[in-house]
Amino acid sequence: DEKRAMKEQFAQFRRLTWQQRLTVASQLGDLTTIQRQMLADNASEDDALLTENYLTSYHLPEGLAATIRMNGHDYLVPMVTEEPSVIAAASYGGKMAASGDGIVTRTDTNLLMGQIVFQTVTVAEISRFVTPNEAKLLSLANQAHPSIVKYGGGARKLRVRALGEGFVSVDLFVDTGEAMGANIMNSMLEALGHHLQDVLEQHPVMSILANDGQQTLVTAAVNVPVANLAKRNAAVGLTVAKRIVAASQIAQLDVSRATTHNKGIMNGVDAVVMATGNDWRAVEASAHAYAARDGQYRGLSRWQLAGDRLVGALTMPMHLGVVGGATASLPLAKLNQQILQVKDVATLNQLTVALGLAQNLAALRALVSEGIQQGHMQLQYRNLAVAAGATPEQVPTVVEALKTHAHPSATLAKAIVTKLNQ
Ligand code: NDP
Repeated sequence: DEKRAMKEQFAQFRRLTWQQRLTVASQLGDLTTIQRQMLADNASEDDALLTENYLTSYHLPEGLAATIRMNGHDYLVPMVTEEPSVIAAASYGGKMAASGDGIVTRTDTNLLMGQIVFQTVTVAEISRFVTPNEAKLLSLANQAHPSIVKYGGGARKLRVRALGEGFVSVDLFVDTGEAMGANIMNSMLEALGHHLQDVLEQHPVMSILANDGQQTLVTAAVNVPVANLAKRNAAVGLTVAKRIVAASQIAQLDVSRATTHNKGIMNGVDAVVMATGNDWRAVEASAHAYAARDGQYRGLSRWQLAGDRLVGALTMPMHLGVVGGATASLPLAKLNQQILQVKDVATLNQLTVALGLAQNLAALRALVSEGIQQGHMQLQYRNLAVAAGATPEQVPTVVEALKTHAHPSATLAKAIVTKLNQ
């Protein structure tokens, strides 16, 4: 009977009150009173408005990368991440980058793409209508969201493309101003889709934003004196630089390595995207699609030697917002924008890619020199200590004790903490 009641509650889940959801989750997880209280303590009425079936709010650590020098300006960059060592690495990468001329960035275009896809119609048939009427169609799209024109944005161009197997896509490119613009785009596509449907006498299969970021590419570049890549010795610096160049080449050749190379870049990128209330799934999807644009998945950044300098560049799609979406609904996202002192989306897009490049530099340097494990493990030990219930005062002792063991583990950390508490 209990099983049946539970099944019914699952089926009705979205109709349950928050209290009821809390009860079901507590029963299911066999939660203690303290655990149940933890869910309640972290819950907020404001957050409940942001999602369906709300239970609680999940907190993540936020830190600042200090400092990222971009286009001659020094930034403290808020980053939200659960992974230890990411922010330390970003800061170290930023420091190395600043020891040269700092990071220089560039954006060519920042146009969001959307698509209206038709079936069983040829490119010629659609183009016959779309090409001569482009200006009219763009103005129709703008009418679906007139305020964007006031903000200096708007629908910019159309493209008709054969997708194969009888599918044709009408691609719309929109300057979404200071917003990420998913909703702006989707309302424009809906209006345009209806119009095209009337003219072509065909219902589109779909009208939807594309997370293809090829029109939102940002490049961040840096050059670092090779001597600055080693703490003590300039000759070692040159060896490190040569190995970083080799690592960059490997990421162009091997998909397995490219995947991890890019994961390292996204460690930094995602953390900034999250801190600013932006959609990291959109950023991830566009990054990986771009990494595979020529048919093979490759590293997003490249490093070369030029005289006594290590020169690196990272080009990737970046299309964030400083208004709209969760940037408006998450109070910390707005606050982080203040810390960043970034008011325009172009700067935020560039700073995020600059941070990605700094992150990549630090990761590659660690990978080819002392090995990433050393720095990583120190922070990993801290995590084990905290997870084992060590108080802030006990953490250093537990970390030191873990270091002396060949196989530090959560169980070992717990045993050490228990011993300390005896
Ligand atoms: P909003 O719907 O909040 O749109 C932004 C709004 O901000 C505009 O409509 C405009 O409203 C206002 N605004 C104020 N100043 C400006 C300015 N200078 N430039 C532009 N707009 C301004 O958010 P988005 O459309 O940006 O949508 C982002 C969200 O969509 C993200 O949370 C994302 O997760 C989600 N999403 C993503 C998808 C994807 O990636 N595939 C798909 C669907 C949703 P007004 O005209 O009223 O002033």
